[in-house]
Formats: sequence, structure tokens, C-alpha cells
Amino acid sequence: MKLESLLSMKGGKGDASYANNSQGQAIHAKSMLHLLKEALDGVYLHDPNIPFVVVDLGCSCGINTINVIDVIIKDITKRYEALGFNPPEFSAFFSDLPSNDFNTLFQLLPPFANYGVSMEECLAANNHRSYFAAGVPGSFYRRLFPARSVDVFHSAFSLHWLSQVPDSVQDRRSNAYNKGRVFIHGANDITANSYKKQFQTDLAGLQWTQQTKVGLVSFLGPIFRMLGMILSKR
Ligand code: SAH
Repeated sequence: MKLESLLSMKGGKGDASYANNSQGQAIHAKSMLHLLKEALDGVYLHDPNIPFVVVDLGCSCGINTINVIDVIIKDITKRYEALGFNPPEFSAFFSDLPSNDFNTLFQLLPPFANYGVSMEECLAANNHRSYFAAGVPGSFYRRLFPARSVDVFHSAFSLHWLSQVPDSVQDRRSNAYNKGRVFIHGANDITANSYKKQFQTDLAGLQWTQQTKVGLVSFLGPIFRMLGMILSKR
């Protein structure tokens, strides 16, 4: 069975759940907020009559993803307002592998600010959500969205998950064979290089650029920090 249909963070709201064990990531993400904001400054603002679409890849089932979507939407809203426009309507897509506990995530979402009122009123309502929300199950190593449909992709602490265990580390006849271990610590250079190559192949295959309308891709991660990589800008 494919790893991606099996693996996930621990769902639910119990003591061992991701929802209750992701404060470390939250602290780390908070310390990099200024970089996220810097990156958001480069996002192209289109006609406010067209919905603005934000995606979090590898959202998991804790509050961090909801907080970061909130930061992004508030930031973009301020930018529209500074230009004298009413902000557009926002859509946020929470995306993760199908085994992610989306039910728990959806329960953490704040209530939608009165449906039907103006976007200004939604944004002013504290503890309310000023965006339409949906979950998107699937691997970020494959296409998840129609071409040119997304304004901002964000991903935190997720890209170090490879798309698969490299074949060679599972092959007993290979010098890269990792003796059945699921960790790289103490492995030889050939094994380490197999993982490195898989990582390079995975990153090179990312298809996010064609899914963006104009394109901002922001990554936050413990292994590498590529932030605010503006892929194309009008
Ligand atoms: N971004 C969240 C969660 C990070 S945990 C936060 O900052 O707290 C990493 C998440 O990445 C997990 O939920 C895992 O399921 C997801 N993930 C790993 N590989 C993935 C892939 N190929 N496609 C989509 N999600 C993936």
C-alpha cells in the first residue's frame, strides 16, 4: 500500500493528538511571521471582484493552519484597503493527505461570520472566519487545483516529507540498503544520498506554479527555509 494513504499526524483532540502537540511548530512559525509578511507584500492583487484563493499544503489537523490562513487573509485585506479597494471574497483550501483528520480540523474552524453580510462586516467580526473554507485531500506532489486558480500557496513543516521511501534503501542488494530502518541516523553516505536524491526529485516535480494565478509560493520548514519565493510577478 502506498505510504501516502497510510501516514498522517495523530487525529482527534486527545493528549497525543497533533492538535495538542503542535505548539513547537507554532512557536517556530511565529518567529518567521515577518518573512511570511515580506513574501505577502509581493503578491499580485487582482480585481477585487474575483475571489482571492489561499491554499495551505500539509495543513494537518491542528490550529496552526487556521492561524496562518488568518494571517495571510488579514494581510492581503489590509493591502487592498490601503489601495482604497474593498477586499475581495476569500477562499481557503486546507490540503493534506487523505488520511488526515479533516473532521477535527473542520471542528476547529471558527464560525463563518454571518453569511450574507458584507465582507467588511465579516472581517470586522472578531473570532469569526472571513473566508469560505474547504478541505482538499491529496498529495502536494501532484496536481490538486485547476491551472491558474490559486493566488497564494503556503506550506509549513511539510515539505521534508518525501513522496516515497527511495527504492534503493529498501533493496537488500543495493549499497544504499538501510537494513529495514525507518530513520537515516547512522546510515552510510550512499543511503543518505538516496534520500537526498529523492528529495531533489520531489522538489523538482512540484507542480504548484501552473496552479497559481500569478504566483506566490511560500514555504516554512525546519529542514530548509525557502520563504517568499515569488515565482512570477506582474
Ligand atoms: N502545517 C502544519 C502541519 C505540519 S505536519 C503546521 O504547521 O502545524 C506535516 C503535514 O504534512 C502532515 O499533516 C502530513 O500529513 C502532511 N504531508 C506530508 N506529506 C504530504 C504530501 N505529500 N501531501 C500533502 N500533505 C503531506
